[in-house]
Amino acid sequence: MKNIKDYNLEELKQELIKLGEKAFRAEQIFKWIYQENVTSFDEMTNLSLELREKLKKEYTLCIYKIIKKQESEDGTKKYLFDVLDGNAIETVLMEYHHGYSICVSSQIGCKMGCKFCASTGINFIRNLSSGEILEQILAVERDANIKISNIVFMGIGEPLDNYNNVINAIKIINNPKGLNIGARHISISTSGLVPKIYDLASENLQCTLSISLHATTDEKRSAMMPVNNSYNIETLMKACKDYIEKTNKRISFEYALAKDNNDNIEDAKRLVKLLKGMICHVNLIPINKIENGEYTKSTNENIIKFRDYLNAHGIVATIRRELGSDIDAACGQLRRKNLNN
Ligand code: SAH
Repeated sequence: MKNIKDYNLEELKQELIKLGEKAFRAEQIFKWIYQENVTSFDEMTNLSLELREKLKKEYTLCIYKIIKKQESEDGTKKYLFDVLDGNAIETVLMEYHHGYSICVSSQIGCKMGCKFCASTGINFIRNLSSGEILEQILAVERDANIKISNIVFMGIGEPLDNYNNVINAIKIINNPKGLNIGARHISISTSGLVPKIYDLASENLQCTLSISLHATTDEKRSAMMPVNNSYNIETLMKACKDYIEKTNKRISFEYALAKDNNDNIEDAKRLVKLLKGMICHVNLIPINKIENGEYTKSTNENIIKFRDYLNAHGIVATIRRELGSDIDAACGQLRRKNLNN
């Protein structure tokens, strides 16, 4: 059955016209779904009974079941959702002083193969549809009885490898009749799919782009991230400069610090050189340990030295707070699950 959450407002209007209904019904339905967050068509009480029946026959509301919910000591919550086809994905809810932030998954599994990340591996299953991305937000809002104010595409998957569905989900998130969350409150993180960075630059969205950089030489980056064999650092930086020029937006570079790997002052020096003159921000992430992972976290002393070096040389860098690591909800710790084994 078709997932009604896969349609943006314009598309849903077309769907209703096909059903012999007036287009404005789509706006009413949008309000029920994204603002009232209902879980059945029967709750859409300003639609006729007949229309509700039609909708039930044609569409599903794709309501996720929570298989497991874990809460960290710092208040971060990790949800394991049954995505209704035998697979499960994780979504994380974080509370900040400025509101609630959600980290959504964009794919079931990931093809990128980054050596330090638990989300990847042999088992890429499929893309999530835009409705499935949105349902993560809605299901968390229902469960926690809150309104989300920030969305980061930093869960399982490579969002730019599921480009169309991610962009369509963002349209619905942004729509004042949809979730009504401004693009400035959305971040997309990519391991560096260069052609898609160029595409994103021409979308004219106000989202923040995060680039998972993690290393400053091709040798080191390729060892950590196979995507670097297709799009090396030079190619990636060129795309980033184009993005900044076209959008006039600052890019956020993610740099996960691994002990004796990419955390010494020589690395910091090269990073300064790479980023010189770009409007950007560096997010330093103490690398989180994953099962069978070969990388371990840098010492606090090295992390601080690294940050201070960047700051002293004109690059704004901050150390990311490690939320949820006690429940494996921190960066790189999310993974897909198969419900049958
Ligand atoms: N595929 C996208 C989205 C994932 S975002 C991307 O690569 O950007 C998750 C962020 O956490 C990325 O910056 C990723 O590189 C980082 N990450 C992955 N594993 C990590 C780990 N073990 N410790 C710290 N950060 C990690």
